[in-house]
Amino acid sequence: MTGGNKAAMTALEVTGRLRPYGIMVADDTARVFDAIAQQGGCARFVGGVVRDALLKRDLVDVDIACDLAPEETQAALEKAGIRVIPTGLKHGTVTAITDAGAYEITTLRVDVLTDGRHAEVAFTDSWLEDAKRRDFTFNAIYCDLDGTIYDPFDGETDLRDGRVRFIGVAENRIAEDFLRILRFFRFQAWFGRPPIDPVGAEACRKAVNGLHDISVERIRDEMFKLLRSRSPAGTINDMIGFGILPAILPKLIHTDCLRIMQWLDSTALADPAIQPDPLRRLAALFAPGGDRRNSDDDEDNLAAAERFARDLRLSNEETDRFAEMVAHAPLIDPKLRPEIVRRDLYRMGAPAFRDAVLLAWSARAAVPPRCTRAENDEWKALIEAAANWQPVKLPIQGRDILKAGLAPAGPRVGALLRQAEEYWIDRDFQPGRDELMDYIARQITAGDEEKE
Ligand code: ATP
Ligand code: MG
Repeated sequence: MTGGNKAAMTALEVTGRLRPYGIMVADDTARVFDAIAQQGGCARFVGGVVRDALLKRDLVDVDIACDLAPEETQAALEKAGIRVIPTGLKHGTVTAITDAGAYEITTLRVDVLTDGRHAEVAFTDSWLEDAKRRDFTFNAIYCDLDGTIYDPFDGETDLRDGRVRFIGVAENRIAEDFLRILRFFRFQAWFGRPPIDPVGAEACRKAVNGLHDISVERIRDEMFKLLRSRSPAGTINDMIGFGILPAILPKLIHTDCLRIMQWLDSTALADPAIQPDPLRRLAALFAPGGDRRNSDDDEDNLAAAERFARDLRLSNEETDRFAEMVAHAPLIDPKLRPEIVRRDLYRMGAPAFRDAVLLAWSARAAVPPRCTRAENDEWKALIEAAANWQPVKLPIQGRDILKAGLAPAGPRVGALLRQAEEYWIDRDFQPGRDELMDYIARQITAGDEEKE
């Protein structure tokens, strides 16, 4: 039986057509579809790639639904010389790896047993059953290689109207998998138009305790995906209002600062180095002592930020970055003198300095009185200073000290070097090599005199 005939037997009706582009029309994609057809199977795009194609957005990840059993899919792809990783055979998923990208290929399935966290699945040949187990109407739109669309729950209309709608009864669908609460808000942030669907949101509120069973890592990943959307503050506010954030991240209590941050990082500043950044946006949401605006204890800020980041299981690198911005932002003042700005830029590097400025600016602009135009220009000047910053290098090294016979090899060399660096920074990086060597010599003489 050919793939076409088999597809005709399944229950989904053709509802429309789109013009495929990007990775949908890549040769490698055709090879994947063809390999499955060669084995008598039918493959269709589904999920994010179809949703994004309907919105004409950039296409990144490709999810494919397929009516072959996972082992058959794997064999079919291998036969066609395509590399396959059996990512989740038990759940029906294999990943095809090609030069054009990765394809998550999942066998049509139904969930037979669910407990809110895990599902036991059974494979099926019914496309409709597969559609019903998906979460939202616009995530259950299938599309053939040629662009033919099958949209059993009219997800296209919901997508067009900005409505995130559960397939089936929201309460039941959430009880099957509590992660769907977070997916609901994530998709709202990306595709929803306010006001949020009250039925879905209310069902999430009622089921909020189920989130306690979801791992921190999954919560973090969902939050990051949400925070990558262009303007997440409205949805975050909904998550606070419907009791979701208080249940999982009680440190995130207001969105005033995030509102400014999202405006700065996605609209106001035409600096290519500044893009929406989930970690920076998280910092804008984070209120260490209940409310950062009333907290002036930097030591506490740092400790609280580190604790929060560790609890969220951020990587070491993310934790350091997060804590540094939270701790440093209160020290940033738009009236900083240029030499102090240069000192900070040297010590922190432009990216971390930019983080701290954006966070400080957001925190300042989030409370009345409104920033005046002149004040905003001062903040902007800090951002421009970061853009124009040319890293400078201390003109001497440890070996210069050794060569000049100023100190024997050992920790003293490092200490002298650090002293010289402070001297150099305090003088706005102006002293050259000779002046710094003289300075070190003077330090040694002064030290010797002190000893006598
Ligand atoms: P993106 O990849 O852009 O994050 P996506 O919609 O493709 O979005 P995936 O997590 O890749 O999301 O999942 C692919 C598809 O699988 C979804 O579109 C949805 O149909 C289904 N799906 C994923 N997770 C769930 C879930 N927890 N409950 C029900 N269906 C889900
Ligand atoms: Mg996807």
